[in-house]
Amino acid sequence: MQVFYNSKSIKAYLDTLIENKSIGFVPTMGALHHGHLSLVEQAKTENHLVVVSIFVNPTQFDKKEDLNKYPRTIDLDLKLLQTINCDMVFIPDVEEMYHQNILAEHFDFGGIEFEMEGKFRKGHFDGVGTIVKRFFEIIKPHKAYFGEKDFQQLQIVKKLVEINNIPVKIIGCEIFREEDGLAMSSRNIRLSEKQRKAAPFIYEILLEAKKKFGIISVDKIKQLVEEQFANNEYLKLEYFEIACEESLKPVNDCQEKRNYRAFIAVFANDVRLIDNIRLGN
Ligand code: AMP
Repeated sequence: MQVFYNSKSIKAYLDTLIENKSIGFVPTMGALHHGHLSLVEQAKTENHLVVVSIFVNPTQFDKKEDLNKYPRTIDLDLKLLQTINCDMVFIPDVEEMYHQNILAEHFDFGGIEFEMEGKFRKGHFDGVGTIVKRFFEIIKPHKAYFGEKDFQQLQIVKKLVEINNIPVKIIGCEIFREEDGLAMSSRNIRLSEKQRKAAPFIYEILLEAKKKFGIISVDKIKQLVEEQFANNEYLKLEYFEIACEESLKPVNDCQEKRNYRAFIAVFANDVRLIDNIRLGN
């Protein structure tokens, strides 16, 4: 496994290497878990070579405290990637990606950037767009892998590629969960024992919403979800929405031929957890 710390060296290496070889790319912020590894495994089956990046991107954090507390476990990450025979890892620092200018580019993603995560994390998707675009320019992957865990981000990246004519295929990968249903997340290691025990409730709520969708109204589902969180000692609901997969616009009732998802964001003290589920079949 080759590890690179600056863009010049990985670019030079890829230039010498990739004649007729397809490159799969998995961008991450590190503190890797099996959710990340499932993306790498999928990339390995569909490409000759796989590049994983590890970079905690400052411009996608709206709160400095959240950025500072984001888990960083580089040594462990490298060991994990080695166990699954990842080909290349790119670990730039902030200077390498932003030089002296730690600012996000502004994007027009056609409105999907203002829903849900965009509402609660101002500027978040400009930060995501900026860094993903820069990584694509450096790595020039044929395919890039993003988890449905961050479904809105996945849609944003598809839009980013479309509006900038970037020749890369964006692949969405299923959410990888712990045995008790909690979606794997780098943030889970920040949960206290009690918060961790309480956290599978998030997925239970999503499953319940899935069962009720189409049977009772969306408003009623939302009301029930809010009520169930009202008495939860460890988890505070930030938002619960049912939205169209394409537009990400929240809906009040379902129409045939559209795909819908339920989206949720929850705080366990200062740890923010998100999850989502596809509705219907
Ligand atoms: P992150 O390091 O949190 O920025 O995540 C890097 C990539 O891994 C993103 O595309 C995430 O959507 C994806 N990812 C994170 N957690 C999971 C999970 N539990 N299942 C599937 N993909 C995930």
